[in-house]
Amino acid sequence: MFKQSAQHIGTYYAGTYGQIPLRPHLQEALDCDVLIVGAGFSGLHTGLRLALAGKKVVILEASRLAWAASGRNGGQALPGWSCDMPPLEKALGLERAKRLWDSMVWAADEMRALPERHGFDIDYRTGALYTAVLPRRVRQLQESLEEAEQKYGYQQLSFIPKEQLSEWIASPRYLAALHDAGAAHLNPLKLAQGLAATLEAHGGRIFEQSKAINWQESADGYRVRTEHGEVRGKVLVLACNAYVDGLDRELAKRLLPVGSYQVATAPLDPELARSLFPKGTCAIDNQFVPDYFRVTPDNRLLFGGGCTYLGGIPDDVPAATRPYLERVFPQLRGVQIDYGWGGHIDCTMHRTPDVGRDGQKYWLQGFSGHGILPTLAAARAVSDAILGDAELLDLYQGLDNPRFPGGDLLAAPIEAVGKAWYRLRDLF
Ligand SMILES: Cc1cc2nc3c(=O)[nH]c(=O)nc-3n(C[C@H](O)[C@H](O)[C@H](O)COP(=O)(O)OP(=O)(O)OC[C@H]3O[C@@H](n4cnc5c(N)ncnc54)[C@H](O)[C@@H]3O)c2cc1C
Repeated sequence: MFKQSAQHIGTYYAGTYGQIPLRPHLQEALDCDVLIVGAGFSGLHTGLRLALAGKKVVILEASRLAWAASGRNGGQALPGWSCDMPPLEKALGLERAKRLWDSMVWAADEMRALPERHGFDIDYRTGALYTAVLPRRVRQLQESLEEAEQKYGYQQLSFIPKEQLSEWIASPRYLAALHDAGAAHLNPLKLAQGLAATLEAHGGRIFEQSKAINWQESADGYRVRTEHGEVRGKVLVLACNAYVDGLDRELAKRLLPVGSYQVATAPLDPELARSLFPKGTCAIDNQFVPDYFRVTPDNRLLFGGGCTYLGGIPDDVPAATRPYLERVFPQLRGVQIDYGWGGHIDCTMHRTPDVGRDGQKYWLQGFSGHGILPTLAAARAVSDAILGDAELLDLYQGLDNPRFPGGDLLAAPIEAVGKAWYRLRDLF
C-alpha cells in the first residue's frame, strides 16, 4: 500500500542533520536471538534494551533508520497515550491502569536519562503546555489536572489562567493552559541515531534498505527473507507502524493509516523566536484535531496540525498549514516556510496501543499519533517479556484492539465521517 523510498524524505530533521550515516543492506544469511523488523523508536528501543541485556539483536529496515514517523514527528515527548486514561481504565480497572501509567512516568524519566547515560545529544528541552481554545475545554484542563493528581499521583501539572498565559506563550488564541513539567521536546532523528549507535556499540546489527518480504515460523524460531538475504531469529519483533500491511495481514487489519503533516519556518530573529515561548516549552492544544508546535534550537517554528484519511498528504503542505500557524501566531503572518512534510500514524479503533505477543512473535503498534514516550514504555514491556518478565506486557494484552469493520476499504471513509463530526465540535 505504501511506497517506501530508499532515502529520507525532505524533513527539517534530515535537512539539518549533516551527514546521516548509511548502514549496509543485508546480503547474507544470519542467525540471531532477536530479529526486529522496523528501525523506528519501537524497534530501536526494544533492540537496545535487549542488546544491553546481552542478546544478539538484528534489525531490518526497509528504508532508512527513522525514515517514517520516528524521523518525521513533532518531537513532543508528552507523558500519556493518544487515547488518554479512560479507555485504559475501562479495560483494565484502576489499579492495573495505574501500573501502566507508572510505566509512562518511567518512560518520561528514562527519555531524559538515556542520552546522558550513553553520551549522545537529542536537543532535550523540558516542559509542554496543553492549551484550550474553547471554554468547555478549559474545564477539561482543570478536570485533567485533578484526575492526574488524585487518581494517578502525577504532580507535574499546573494550571495557567488566561491572565498569566502571556508569560508562557505569545498567542491570543488560548483561554488557559496546563503546564506539564514532566514533558519535554527533542530532535527525534538525533534520538534515533543515538539509539542506533548505542545498540551497535553493544553488538546489535542494523541493516537499512533491507525490506522484510515475509516471515515464517519454524521449529527453532522465525525466518525472515529480504531481497538479498535472510535472518533466522529465536524471537521475532514486528515494529512496522502502519507500513506493516503485506508483512502481517492480521496486525494490519487493526490499524488505520492516517496522514499527518507539519512545517518548519526559516530561522526567526532569535528575539522573536524566544518571545513565542518565553519559558522554552512546546505546546499542543486540546482540540480533537490539535495544533502542536515548538521552537527549535536554531530558532525555527515547527508547526503541525491537520490530518488526512486514506493515507494521503496534501500536495502543498506549507499552504495547507500556513492558515493554522498564522491563527496561533498572527505576528508571523507571511513568514518564510523552509520545510513541509507528512507521515503516517497507526490509529487503532479506540486509539489504544496494540502491543502483544503470540508464541515468540511480538509486536508494537497502534500508537495513534502519540508515540515518542509510548514506544519507549512499550519497548520496556516487550523486552522485559522476552527476558522472562511479562508483567507489563500482560497489561497491554488486556486491551481490546478490534479489526476495523470492512477492512482497509471501509475503515477510512467511516473514520473520515467520524472525524468530520469531531472537527465540527472543535468549533463550539
Ligand atoms: C507528522 C507526525 C507527527 C508526530 N508528532 C508526534 C509528537 O510530537 N509526539 C509524539 O509522541 N508522537 C508523534 N508522532 C507519532 C510518533 O512519531 C510515532 O508514534 C512513533 O514514531 C512510532 O514509532 P514506530 O517505531 O512504531 O514507527 P515508525 O517510526 O514509523 O517505524 C516503523 C519502521 O518500520 C519500517 N518497516 C515497515 N515495514 C517494514 C518491512 N516490511 N521491512 C523492514 N522495515 C519495515 C518502516 O520503514 C519504518 O522505518 C507523530 C507522527 C507523525 C507522522
